[in-house]
Amino acid sequence: MSVNGNQFKNMLEQLDKAAKVAQIPKEDYITLRSPEREFTINFPIKMDDGKIEMFTGYRIQHNSIRGPYKGGIRFHPDIDIDEMRALAGWMTFKCAVADIPFGGAKGGIAIDPSDFSKNELERITKGYTTGIIPLIGPELDIPAPDVNTNHQTMAWILDAYSKAQGYGVAGVVTGKPISVGGSLGRREATGKGVSFVTREIAYQKGINLEGATVAIQGFGNVGSITAKSLYEMGSKIVAVSDISGAIYCSNGIDIPRLLKHVYNHPRRLIEGYSQGGLENIDNYTLLTLEVDFLIPAAMENQIDEKVAKALEAKIVVEAANGPTTFKGDRVLEDRGIVVVPDILANSGGVTASYFEWVQNMQHIAWEESTINLNLERKMMAAFETVYKKSVEEETSMRTAAYIVALSKLVEAQKLRGIF
Ligand code: GLU
Repeated sequence: MSVNGNQFKNMLEQLDKAAKVAQIPKEDYITLRSPEREFTINFPIKMDDGKIEMFTGYRIQHNSIRGPYKGGIRFHPDIDIDEMRALAGWMTFKCAVADIPFGGAKGGIAIDPSDFSKNELERITKGYTTGIIPLIGPELDIPAPDVNTNHQTMAWILDAYSKAQGYGVAGVVTGKPISVGGSLGRREATGKGVSFVTREIAYQKGINLEGATVAIQGFGNVGSITAKSLYEMGSKIVAVSDISGAIYCSNGIDIPRLLKHVYNHPRRLIEGYSQGGLENIDNYTLLTLEVDFLIPAAMENQIDEKVAKALEAKIVVEAANGPTTFKGDRVLEDRGIVVVPDILANSGGVTASYFEWVQNMQHIAWEESTINLNLERKMMAAFETVYKKSVEEETSMRTAAYIVALSKLVEAQKLRGIF
């Protein structure tokens, strides 16, 4: 979370670094240095016991030069506006790297969803949506799931928005249930995308993916699907974690069995899973394991300077948004540890969101194979562009990804002009 309280500043430092390498003058990207719009919403909700509670939510719309604002909505007790700004900015750069016609936004409500009943969560989500109705819409800003939110949350947003308009508006959110206009393949897309870029970087670095060792921090939607996809590609997932703890097995975790366990757990956790040779480890040990791939798939700021100095993975693939601090990143770069950056690695989710939105706007439904084929194509193209740029500029893949994004955003800004 926002442990440093300066995540947006860190993002700007990264942006400046990329601009310097690519010799882009500051004036050309000055519009990207502050969010276009920022909203804080305070709203009341009646709890199940009849008491009234106040809640705070945010929606930050960072940039719309390439298309409507796009980005997830998260529920987390520690969110703050600075973190939201950084997350919104990362969406702008992610959509540019993924080459989809969206800008960037992010929102959230400062709650721990496990403190509330399902009915309360529905009212909180709809209360928040009612507050942001003038700010969202299929051509304006399209929310999606993020940390602790899912297809159900999106169905509630869709309902509140559609009722206010007087007719159903499927394209106002992505990551919806299929029965209300969602897309096949969207739920799996982020994790699948992470596995595609892992496969590509393995190829570039001469690592055989079959038998390659992998540690994954986080076993939510993204971490679990990444584990499943890489397991199916033949990799050995030796460690995974979630809020209940971390587990390690040198022979490899039986991922299909673990997935079954998690599915049957009342809170969808790895807690209580057992298998021969399994050990409980702590989060720091997981992050510093000697593995081929470390995949942070949880929250921000996990790889700070201290972790970066002790990290023994050959390659870090960032499935989470902002898992590496700016200083941590510098250490990894100095140590020659390759990082596939978040704005590339986890762009499969928003790419499939784009496919969902396109289907909604055209009132058609694609087959799952069409989604998967297009997802893989888009991800491979983005990977290739960023990888090539990193070789050309002799820089990290993160800086290269920012250069790719910056070039597209600056070009769009110049063409549209500033009055
Ligand atoms: N929350 C996801 C992300 O951070 C998906 C956003 C979207 O699909 O709009 O990329």
